[in-house]
Amino acid sequence: MPLFDAEAGIARGVVSLVGAGPGDPGLVTVRGLELVTGAEVLVYDRLIPPGLVDLAPEDCERVDVGKYPGRVRLPQAEINRLLVERARAGKRVVRLKGGDPFVFGRGGEEAEACARAGVRFQVVPGVTSAIAGPAYAGIPVTHPELAAAFAVVTGQERPDRPETSVDWRALAQVGTVCVLMTVGSLERVAVRLLAAGRAPATPAVLVERATMPSQRVIRSTLGEVAHDAGAAGVSAPAMLVVGEVAALAGRTGWVRPRRLAGQVVLVPGDPGQAPAPGEYGQVAALAGLLRERGAEPLELPLVEMRPAPSPAALDRAVAALAAGAYRWTALTSRDGVEALRDRVEAAGLDVRALARTRVAAAGPATEAALRAWGIVPDLLPAAGSDDQSLAAAFPPPSAPARGSGAEGGRPGAAGVAGTAGPCPAPAVLLPRGDPAGPELAATLRSKGWAVAEVVAYRTVPRDLDPDLRKRVDAGEVGWVAFTSATAVAGFLGAYGGPPPPGMRVAVLGPGAAEAAASCGVRVDALAPQHNTVPGLVAAIEGATEPR
Ligand code: SAH
Repeated sequence: MPLFDAEAGIARGVVSLVGAGPGDPGLVTVRGLELVTGAEVLVYDRLIPPGLVDLAPEDCERVDVGKYPGRVRLPQAEINRLLVERARAGKRVVRLKGGDPFVFGRGGEEAEACARAGVRFQVVPGVTSAIAGPAYAGIPVTHPELAAAFAVVTGQERPDRPETSVDWRALAQVGTVCVLMTVGSLERVAVRLLAAGRAPATPAVLVERATMPSQRVIRSTLGEVAHDAGAAGVSAPAMLVVGEVAALAGRTGWVRPRRLAGQVVLVPGDPGQAPAPGEYGQVAALAGLLRERGAEPLELPLVEMRPAPSPAALDRAVAALAAGAYRWTALTSRDGVEALRDRVEAAGLDVRALARTRVAAAGPATEAALRAWGIVPDLLPAAGSDDQSLAAAFPPPSAPARGSGAEGGRPGAAGVAGTAGPCPAPAVLLPRGDPAGPELAATLRSKGWAVAEVVAYRTVPRDLDPDLRKRVDAGEVGWVAFTSATAVAGFLGAYGGPPPPGMRVAVLGPGAAEAAASCGVRVDALAPQHNTVPGLVAAIEGATEPR
């Protein structure tokens, strides 16, 4: 294996300690991005810009060592061992960290571990929150008249290491003091700086989720900041800037606060759709747009996928499929595609098992799963992504065979054209979930098709995550947004009752509104343009007072 891959210019067997910047994906360095897109092993923390991890190649090994509330971080020694081990196996290892890897990022320890093990490493500095936080609040950390120096310090001192503890007296003399990891220790930090002689009126600004759409800036003074932070409900990540420069936030603050900054919005999944919060569908689109407007969306999958009790029925269908027994195969979910693919592969076959059938798909997630398998669907409903739209778009068996161009497929959607061979019997294979609505099969039968329904997977209701329930019960979640009637029912089941009084309810369209009303749930916002995600977000914005 060559040490350098000339094409990517990235060394193998080398560990890259890469700073990912403070949160805005635009603040990742070009070099950092290049390394992520070529990574074979990606080891990352919390506080990585959204989407960055997804840019690594599909087959890259991703290791999340982040510290999540309630879950422990992988111990540092384990992380060091992992980096060394993978590099020794000749991999391109990227260790991705928020901000800069050497600013309270423990990058130093990882570099030492590599050096000790004789593993090559490189460091790609990142934009640190210590400077980007103030910058996005309009605060220059140095200023010709106001601050000749700035210092970066942690608010969390380590009592077990007195030798590295902070000299607050010396620090109080520095023009600008940037304090990281400070949410739980504001009071203590302020007291130390005051005791060291800094005036209570010294400007102090907290920057919460700096550079992210939900950024908030809380302007205060050293004497008041702990109180003001409590009143504003500041949570991590946040950093504190103390010093005369902090007063400039009022004059040169340039980031316009987003309408929904600080709002937490619960987005229950549609139980009829792919259970994992995927990259597709209305739930994901809603979460994305909410995030853009500054809110924190909490996606709540309501069902989880389980394999069918026995694969025998699907195995028989796969054999018949390969033998050309079905003119069409209709797939309505990503899980259906994956279950079918599983059994095709278990039978020792590959995608050519579907060479003699046409493929119809409902919804973009289903289409994407098919394309990932090398199949371009022959039929996609032009409007809508649900079973009914697919049923409506389905041709009758008497329609001319494919090739004559009248089968209802989209232009250019004939990726397996010419491979279907002679037209088999008018039968449709319908690998489906359990439970599944009866409409699709019924409509196809009414059009004259013989439908072979096969349970490919089961969906079972999911319990509400205990951490999420805590947040809901603590009144932290201001909104719940329903995209469908089934989502309403699913949420009520999972939560065990209607949303608590402090949680307002937004719905995408009349279907969800009716479902809410019939369960006695009051609706606070209804999308003015029914059934559009931007309409729903506008309705939530309209009903939310700016914070
Ligand atoms: N290496 C990181 C710092 C890691 S320590 C860097 O250079 O930025 C984690 C602390 O960084 C958090 O507790 C918080 O104080 C700060 N921080 C990181 N990202 C932040 C952000 N987007 N907004 C505000 N503070 C942030």
